[in-house]
Amino acid sequence: MIGNDIDKKSVRTLAQLIEQCNTVVITCHVKPDGDAVGSTLALMHILSTLGKAVHIVTPDSPPRSLRFLPGCKDVVAVSSQEDFCRSLVSKAELIFCLDFNALNRIDRLAPYIRRAKAKKVLIDHHLDPESFADITISHPAESSTCALLFKVICALGLRPIIDKKTAMCLMTGIMTDTGNLSYNANDPDLYIIVADLLRLGVNKVRLWERLNIKTQSQLRLNAFAVDSRMELLMNGRAALITLNSDDLARYDYVKGDTEGLVNVPLTIPEVAVSVFMHQEPGFIKVSMRSKGEFPVNKICSAHFGGGGHLNAAGGEFKGHMREAVDTLRKVLPDYAQYLPIVEK
Ligand code: 5GP
Ligand code: MN
Repeated sequence: MIGNDIDKKSVRTLAQLIEQCNTVVITCHVKPDGDAVGSTLALMHILSTLGKAVHIVTPDSPPRSLRFLPGCKDVVAVSSQEDFCRSLVSKAELIFCLDFNALNRIDRLAPYIRRAKAKKVLIDHHLDPESFADITISHPAESSTCALLFKVICALGLRPIIDKKTAMCLMTGIMTDTGNLSYNANDPDLYIIVADLLRLGVNKVRLWERLNIKTQSQLRLNAFAVDSRMELLMNGRAALITLNSDDLARYDYVKGDTEGLVNVPLTIPEVAVSVFMHQEPGFIKVSMRSKGEFPVNKICSAHFGGGGHLNAAGGEFKGHMREAVDTLRKVLPDYAQYLPIVEK
């Protein structure tokens, strides 16, 4: 049954903590994506239905593309309302940390969460969770925090209170973390969850359309990136796309405009690792994707100040684009042994 693989003791303790609390804060990682926003909103709806006073407090505001999700406009971001966020966190009786494994992933929120007197619950699917929470529900094999959260909700016996808007939020993370059920999507249970969410009224086709809206300049930037800024390395086994600040300015770049771009080069059969680097104020944001056993999380943690999953990772490089590219060129051959065999 869905939810049976969630640790029973954690579920019992969690049920008690929920029962005893009145005020809840839910948080997620910097630059929240569909899974981070979808899971926090879904949990907010569930706990609100149970009569709790719930606030979502995030390091950054959710991207434009997710603001249509029910409840998204009420998310409070530290980047714009620091005092309010600090007060919400300090007053909370229970804090949920969703879709991240380490406090450095919540940036300026980290000291507030660390200091908070509330009990903390981590629900996440990234490798190697830090042990800062009172309850840690960490399932790295799970494709999304939303799928894991659905299981936790079932294990708590709360499946009957999932309504259509909660289902839509959960479906969002499931879709965005699997490329609309393209990668990380071999688990049969995932389709049981998806079927359940569809029965609850989610319009998957419409949701897909809304999640994949692009502006004209966004579309042109992505096309330009592939056409003019992609190069192949390691005899065609690796792809690198770089966008400098002039490139971004030319297309009126705003955060999120290149979401998904890093996956595109992997459609070339020989390409087993794809790297996308773009200039952010003060650092180079690095994103990596791979096929098979090629460990982009290792590369990101060893050389680009980050981490992530085996096949999807990222980091921040403090330095010039030139140096970031040189570093990549230098270290990639060290990982050649992990390149999967090309299927003809
Ligand atoms: P993306 O490439 O979409 O930004 O991130 C893919 C995955 O890499 C994320 O889900 C996260 O696990 C990881 N990741 C991205 N950026 C960072 C970072 O700066 N630090 C760490 N530790 N992980 C990151
Ligand atoms: Mn996720």
